Amino acid sequence: MKDKFPIPLSYPYKEGDAGEICMDAQMLADMLLQLRSGEEQDNCPEKACILGSNAAGEIVRFHVDTEGIGGRTSYLPNTAGLEQVIRMWKIEYAVAFAGLIHTHPHKNALALSPKDLLFTKALLALNPGLQRIVMGILAGGELALYCFDRDFLRIYDRNKEG
Ligand SMILES: [Zn+2]
Repeated sequence: MKDKFPIPLSYPYKEGDAGEICMDAQMLADMLLQLRSGEEQDNCPEKACILGSNAAGEIVRFHVDTEGIGGRTSYLPNTAGLEQVIRMWKIEYAVAFAGLIHTHPHKNALALSPKDLLFTKALLALNPGLQRIVMGILAGGELALYCFDRDFLRIYDRNKEG
């Protein structure tokens, strides 16, 4: 079963792009469970996982960066380890890197921070083959999803829904 997140069109989205994020509901549940483990602790560090998509653009794989260094308000990825996972995805499953979801320790902190936006830009620069990137924030049990195209236009922003 695929969960399709419809696009709200009330933000500066790229016109004409039906930016839609598609992922398996069970996979999403597993991912959230892994990202949320330890959340109840007082000093729960930020956590992250990378996403992989198939040729149809559906998110079909994720990998929690258990080696990354999470702080209260920061997260330093284990770049070498993640690159290895991305290489393996490509060879074994024809899956490409598609984005990243990370946690914020504060409730309602569902927006991408200025640092997150810079990071997103850097990821696009580092991955010239990436046509769009999915960024997600998990905070207080809620998930906000964003998608940017290569020109850094938001083509999807679930946080703005409703
Ligand atoms: Zn962040």
